[in-house]
Amino acid sequence: MDSCIFCKIIQGEIPAKKLYEDEDVLAFNDIHPAAPVHILLIPKLHIAALTEVDDIHQRLLGKMLLLTPQLASKQGCTDGFRTIINTGRVGGQEVFHLHFHIIGGKERLPVMI
Ligand code: 5GP
Ligand code: ZN
Repeated sequence: MDSCIFCKIIQGEIPAKKLYEDEDVLAFNDIHPAAPVHILLIPKLHIAALTEVDDIHQRLLGKMLLLTPQLASKQGCTDGFRTIINTGRVGGQEVFHLHFHIIGGKERLPVMI
């Protein structure tokens, strides 16, 4: 997707601090971290939102979920972390390329709605 910021990060057209990459996914630091650790994990396939996923994405989504605790612990989140997927306007989604926020590195994260 030409106009998508995260597709541009995947293509290397916009710089990002990459933490993990393979043929299916990319993890990088959020540009405006909400906590000491704030990772974004994205599929390389442009999927706009969680509402757009299908049976064909099962393996990809499973891979992302399994990678999540590995990425978190590698960044030092040994006592826990929060995973957030904002979906749609009401869900606070601003970038319409599916992403997991992986947030931690604080003694206690504030409770969110
Ligand atoms: P959303 O609100 O869509 O769930 O979250 C989008 C996230 O992407 C935000 O936390 C925002 O800080 C992050 N973000 C937006 N543009 C960029 C960018 O160009 N680079 C990086 N690394 N993060 C971005
Ligand atoms: Zn995209």
